[in-house]
Amino acid sequence: MAKLQPPRGTRDLFGPTLASMRHVQHLATAKAKSYGFEEIETPVFESMAVFERPLGETSDVVSKEMYSFDTKEGGELYGLRPENTASVIRAFLSNGLQQQLPARFFYAGPMFRHERPQAGRYRQFYQFGVELLGAASAYADVDVIALGYDILCGLGLENNIVLSLNTLGDTQSRTAYRSALVDYFSVHKGKLSEDSLKRLNKNPLRILDSKDAGDRELVKDAPLFDDFLNQASKTFFAEICAGLNEIGVPWQRDQAMVRGLDYYCHTTFEFITQDLGAQGTVLAGGRYDGLVQLMGGPDTPGVGFASGIDRLSLLLGEVETARRTVSVVPVGDEAQPACRKLAHQLRGQGFEIDLGYEGNVGKRMKRANKLGALASLLIGDEELAAGSVQLKDLSTGNQETVAMDQVAARLQQILASAEG
Ligand code: ATP
Ligand code: MG
Repeated sequence: MAKLQPPRGTRDLFGPTLASMRHVQHLATAKAKSYGFEEIETPVFESMAVFERPLGETSDVVSKEMYSFDTKEGGELYGLRPENTASVIRAFLSNGLQQQLPARFFYAGPMFRHERPQAGRYRQFYQFGVELLGAASAYADVDVIALGYDILCGLGLENNIVLSLNTLGDTQSRTAYRSALVDYFSVHKGKLSEDSLKRLNKNPLRILDSKDAGDRELVKDAPLFDDFLNQASKTFFAEICAGLNEIGVPWQRDQAMVRGLDYYCHTTFEFITQDLGAQGTVLAGGRYDGLVQLMGGPDTPGVGFASGIDRLSLLLGEVETARRTVSVVPVGDEAQPACRKLAHQLRGQGFEIDLGYEGNVGKRMKRANKLGALASLLIGDEELAAGSVQLKDLSTGNQETVAMDQVAARLQQILASAEG
């Protein structure tokens, strides 16, 4: 049988890669909590209806990238979630969470998109994201963007990343801009890619986001959104810019940035790095005031972002993890039961214990060093008789005799200084 492999575009995560992804997730979680967000977890698959309308049937995600399937009952078509905003809103409505607004949720988990795998682009990837529902104020957008920036700063990435900011205006502004775009692109119909031609009347804004080289040439001379923004939209955007300046979040305007999904209005933003080639966007989001209503709920404004944990961890590289493991090593068979008991007791006190099952002292010490253990506890005949252990600090090589009932306290000291 051929060697079994994970599906194309997916990865087995372990060791340093998983450690750095967890580091990203834990840091983002702590920051989100400091902004008053609470965790939500929804199923990884949903009825296709949850995604189709909200994301837009002409979006790349829905038209090309979704994994969908039916079940043994037949009937309903399901999809693996390609992103989580629609699911969170579905959950917000299903569970009657509209009572206390604004509601703030964060999530972390796998998303699925059928796209061409490359570095930083996978078919199963991981997002951390937030949704702030029920706040129409521009300062909600500022809070969400500031949280994204705080997360990137917490990861030490602020110097490699630029915040691009844009506005898509309100419905009135978008309608005006839309028809200007249709007029412009209709004149150049012959040069549009097949995809963009399909979008011309359904969703011309999407053409601005096209990756086709010919389309990009045309986009360069397309009308600019700013000329179609009404006063209300301009005022809203000015408040966001001022709010970001107030708290020192650096940003730059990118008038050509439209986000890939249909549901955005007003604010859109992306934090982009030059260090990951074409996969440079690490955190992106915007305002989606019409989405809750589109999904059958009451008119509720919303703003949020999603960030790619895989990409952030690629940028970070290996993260330093403090040595924590303590290995317990019997010197001779007599000491085996005492070692097992000590291991059991220390685990109960919260220590991370590695207990080998066989092998001589040399082999076990080798393993302890390979694991990057913090310390080893050795028990031989002498220690058995005296009720003590030999504690070897593996980072310094120092060895000391410690009374059995003092082991936990001494380990605690060594742990604290290692984490110092
Ligand atoms: P891209 O332009 O790179 O395809 P996108 O606009 O499709 O990104 P979003 O839907 O905004 O991405 O998702 C938010 C974030 O999730 C992205 O900025 C990126 O960091 C991450 N992401 C999206 N798709 C993938 C993927 N296939 N593999 C890894 N990370 C991804
Ligand atoms: Mg994409």
